[in-house]
Amino acid sequence: MSNHAARRAVLRPLIAESGVEGLLVTNLLNIRYLTGFTGSNAALIVAASDGDSAEDESVFCTDGRYVTQAAAQVPDLRTVTDRASAVALVAAASGRLGFEAGHLTVAEHTQLVDLDSAELVATTGLVEQLRAVKDPDEIEALRQACTIADDAFAGLIAAGGIRAGRTEREVGLDLDDRMRRGGAEDPAFETIVAAGAHSAIPHHRPTGSVLERGDLVKLDFGARFAGYHSDMTRTVVLGPPQDWQREIYDVVRAAQTAAEELVRPGTTGQLLDQAARRVVTDAGYGDRFLHGLGHGIGLEIHEGPAVAGAATGTIKADMVLTVEPGVYLEGRGGVRIEDSGVVRTSGYEVLTLTAKNLLVL
Ligand code: ZN
Ligand code: ZN
Repeated sequence: MSNHAARRAVLRPLIAESGVEGLLVTNLLNIRYLTGFTGSNAALIVAASDGDSAEDESVFCTDGRYVTQAAAQVPDLRTVTDRASAVALVAAASGRLGFEAGHLTVAEHTQLVDLDSAELVATTGLVEQLRAVKDPDEIEALRQACTIADDAFAGLIAAGGIRAGRTEREVGLDLDDRMRRGGAEDPAFETIVAAGAHSAIPHHRPTGSVLERGDLVKLDFGARFAGYHSDMTRTVVLGPPQDWQREIYDVVRAAQTAAEELVRPGTTGQLLDQAARRVVTDAGYGDRFLHGLGHGIGLEIHEGPAVAGAATGTIKADMVLTVEPGVYLEGRGGVRIEDSGVVRTSGYEVLTLTAKNLLVL
């Protein structure tokens, strides 16, 4: 059974438990996860099952541009060709049909209801909850995405690419270029290069401002490989660190270690967040840790599980998540250190292997 068929086999009983006979999937990332299809227009109805039925009567729809691609990527499903993919599938459906309430616009929903065919029932997160736990192929794709980012960063450092006189934008483009040459399909998100006072802004966008000696420089970046996103942050200093820079760096690193040591199946995102926040708070910077501790990564750069103060869901084996505490001193500078890693029964297997001692350039 292919990965995709295996994922549908896990999903089908969950659809039945939701009290519907099928699930209309319109989120293209969920369609990719369930079928392997990577085009830009598709819909899918996954048939519910009681877990015994081997027959997968799911049906896939895309438009004429993708007929050849669909035949190669989705050889195991009945395929309909129609530009209005969701409409075509729902028009031919009957009974109670779940839809992804988080991914259908009100206008699209109205259009489907007006077909007067299946009874549409809102569902949320059915596929997303499966995506939060990765299978071995997904973990290898994420490992490769992390390796590309690690290697690009090492190359940037070795080439003296982070130096006074360069702009944030130049450094970011250099890093992006190195990730692409290293095999990334694209950067996983807009690379953050934040120097000096800008490093105190958690999601600063690179500007034309010039790096100066004495600056903290925070770089938050990742690679996309085979559709999967890596995410890492390192903060370096240009020249000998001042005491306050060294102090907040050590606090953030201790906070990260405290949380990473607690990662295992059965914990919660809330407990991990609290562990890191306690270290930062005890050091007197509790109100300077301006965001949640982390998030899951995968086909999206932010996905389940939640790893933050309000996150109550259980952390499971083979989830892949980030641990990224930060301390931000407005007007002066900030530090964030971020890893991506896999939840194993033995603990947190870090995939971003770049060293975390304060790098003085
Ligand atoms: Zn990041
Ligand atoms: Zn992140």
